[in-house]
Order: sequence, then structure tokens, then C-alpha cells
Amino acid sequence: MYLNFDIQSLKKVKELLQTSNRIVLTTHHNPDGDAIGSVLGFYHALKNVGISSTVVTPNGFPDFLMWLPGVDTVTKYSQSKELTAEIFSNADLIFCLDFNGFRRTESMEKILSDATGVKVLVDHHPDPESNFDYSFSFTEVSSTAELVYELVSELFGDDCISKESAECLYVGMMTDTGSFSYACSRERTFFIAGQLVGKGVVVEKVQGLVYNNFSVNRMQFLGYCLAEKMKVFPEHSAAYIWLSKDDLKRFNHQSGDTEGFVNYPLSIKGIVFSVLFMENDGFIKVSLRSRGTFPANEFSKKYYNGGGHTNAAGGKSFTTMDLSIQQFEELLKQYSNELNASN
Ligand code: 5GP
Ligand code: MN
Repeated sequence: MYLNFDIQSLKKVKELLQTSNRIVLTTHHNPDGDAIGSVLGFYHALKNVGISSTVVTPNGFPDFLMWLPGVDTVTKYSQSKELTAEIFSNADLIFCLDFNGFRRTESMEKILSDATGVKVLVDHHPDPESNFDYSFSFTEVSSTAELVYELVSELFGDDCISKESAECLYVGMMTDTGSFSYACSRERTFFIAGQLVGKGVVVEKVQGLVYNNFSVNRMQFLGYCLAEKMKVFPEHSAAYIWLSKDDLKRFNHQSGDTEGFVNYPLSIKGIVFSVLFMENDGFIKVSLRSRGTFPANEFSKKYYNGGGHTNAAGGKSFTTMDLSIQQFEELLKQYSNELNASN
């Protein structure tokens, strides 16, 4: 066993999987590659051992994930509110993947917290909430997808991971690690990626479907962001990008188009902290990335009512764009020493 699973919990959850009639797998709002990869990878592995489950997400997900096997079976709360409420109220077993608290499901929070089924957390974010009946929470794994691989292998043996499951899990691992360039310092992560390749994942194909599948608009939008909307503070080892609704409209922004934009400033020599401010309805969505020891999650928790990992976090600013970036520039001065030391 490579992770320190609680044997009693494993045993009980296996029993529940084998005896429950209505099993739901769900994930966080605005699901990313790891969120969708984990739930669908889990769904296919369970299916392979004769256990059927229903996948539910709070809302839709980007085009670059639409090719994943099983996406057509996903019920989205934002599109089918009554059906989703019914699925949750009838569920006897609910798996919560890639998030650490009900709040992360946003508009679906009440339905999830009111549901009476047994709730199982499967996640890699720090500080999980305690309102789950069983918790498989490990921060050392690269991604929730990696954790799902370990979990289903423990429960049913890795034969349950079909090619479909492997493709989904590989996408989760690949997207959460920037194609195996960060958050993957453990040998085991690469071993599991190798096992997934052994199950039939064609690395070039998957990489191409996720990363070489952008629209012309998206590429030009990226160029515009870097040329016109990025402000760099070498003296604080930091940078930010700010995008208004007009910017998004100008480049016909589609869900997922800005995914990854926040990482680009980190490619500048000496920059260890990068933040993307993106105007939304009633708030500014804030994405934060760091290198080294600077805790993006703590910064986000303190100023943006958010959280995440040390090097990748998110949150919201409930004021105007002007005030958000003004406040951020002040904070950079305050955190300058800490930022300059984070290498
Ligand atoms: P992103 O910037 O891609 O939205 O999110 C980066 C990381 O931060 C992900 O691990 C995500 O789960 C987490 N995250 C994003 N938004 C929030 C938020 O509002 N609250 C919390 N607690 N975590 C968030
Ligand atoms: Mn994740």
C-alpha cells in the first residue's frame, strides 16, 4: 500500500459500494481536468466491476474535456436542477472528489449538504472539512486522479481500470501537474502514469486533445493578455493579469479559454507569484499560482475568501477591478520580502 489508507474505512467503503443501490460521484464548481478526470475515471472503474453510479457536476466544463469517455452521461446541476436534487436525495452513497468542503460546489452546496446518503471524500487539497462520513484525503499525491488510481486498486485490484478509466485518470494527472512538470516530485506519480500508459493511454493523442485544440480566438486572447494586460513587478518577484468583461467579449471568450493563462507569468525569470483577475457577474474571479514556498492558498484564504494548494489557489474579490488590483499592488509591497525569498 503506497498511501496510508485507513483499513477499516477501506473495508467499510468497499462494503457500501457493493450494497448501495444509488451511488453518486460529484466534484467542484467549474470542474477542471482533474475534477472531471477523477469522477469519470472512478465511474469507469466501478462500472468494470459491475457497480453502476451517476456522475453529477455543479455546472458545465470546458470543450477540451468534451472528448473524455463518459462525458455524455454527466448530469449538470446548472442545467437540470430538479433532476440533480432528486439524484442527491435518493442517493445512498455520495463520493465527493477533488474538493475539500461543500462550499466548493457553490450553487449545489445546499442540495449536497442536505443529502442524507453516506458521504465519502476523495481529495488532495489541504484542510478537508470534517462533515464527511469517510475521508480519503492525501495532499502528497499529484492529483485526485492519482488518488482514485490508488483507491480503486486497493478496493478492487487495478484490473478494474479499463482504457476508458485510464484515459480519464491520465488527463486528471496531466492537467493538475502541467504535463508532469510540477506537483509530481514522487516517483510513484510517474509509476502510475506509466501504468495508465500500459492500460492503453496514448500520451501524444491525449496531450493533443487537451492542449492542441484551442480556437484562434483563444490564442489571440492569450497574446493580447501577455502583451497588453500583464503587469510585472520584478522588485516583488510577482506579476498579474487583469481581464474585464469587455476583454472577454472582444475575444469571444468560451468556458476554459483562460485556463492556464495564470501560469504564463511564472515563465518570466525571477517571477514566483502570478495572479489572474477576471471580471465575473458580481465578483472578480482570482486565480493564484506560486513557485517555491510562498503559500498562494493562504494568501487567497486571507484576501479572496478562497483556498487551494500551496502553489495553486483560487478565490473571489467582491469589489471592483480597479480596487482589487490597487489592493493587490499594496499587498505586493507588504509581502515583498516573503516573495523574494520564495525560490
Ligand atoms: P483555479 O485558479 O484553477 O480556479 O484554482 C486553482 C486551485 O485552487 C484548485 O486546486 C482549486 O480547487 C482551488 N480553488 C479555486 N477556487 C477556489 C475557491 O474559491 N475556494 C477554494 N477553497 N479553493 C479554490
Ligand atoms: Mn485536483
